[in-house]
Amino acid sequence: MEQFQFPFLHGKKSALPEEIQKLIDRAEAAADKAYAPYSHFKVGAAVLLEDGSMLTGSNHENAAYPAGVCAERAALSTLEMNDKTHRVKAIAVTYHSGDEYGKPISPCGICRQTILEVQQWQQQPISIYMCSPDGKVIVLEDAGYLLPFSFGSEYLNVQETSPLDR
Ligand SMILES: [Zn+2]
Repeated sequence: MEQFQFPFLHGKKSALPEEIQKLIDRAEAAADKAYAPYSHFKVGAAVLLEDGSMLTGSNHENAAYPAGVCAERAALSTLEMNDKTHRVKAIAVTYHSGDEYGKPISPCGICRQTILEVQQWQQQPISIYMCSPDGKVIVLEDAGYLLPFSFGSEYLNVQETSPLDR
């Protein structure tokens, strides 16, 4: 038996490349726009594409709680999956809450599943930047580490061709 090693980096936002700091800035701005009247936990996500453009999203809650949408999936829902030129390089996620306790946020289980589907679709790793309001960051260089032993399209009876190859 071999022990699985789990690689991640942690540090401060200010130590990251300028492009990633801008990505986190965009996630912070998105969090300001969140609709979170029930939890008061405002989440923002920013998606960096290969061409340098960014997509953003924030959480939108609903009185019927399960109808709410997370920031990560709100941002990724605007990704044009049929556009062969727009692979995702990185995703940053951060938050504001009434109680800023400084722990980096991580995507929920449903968002992890969604991010992995994109990574599998584009056949290229997505870096994940999990941030706290006070500038702490945990970095995963492959979204696959968010969800080990995940369920994906390889279990279904579909062709293993990426839309990028069509
Ligand atoms: Zn989520």
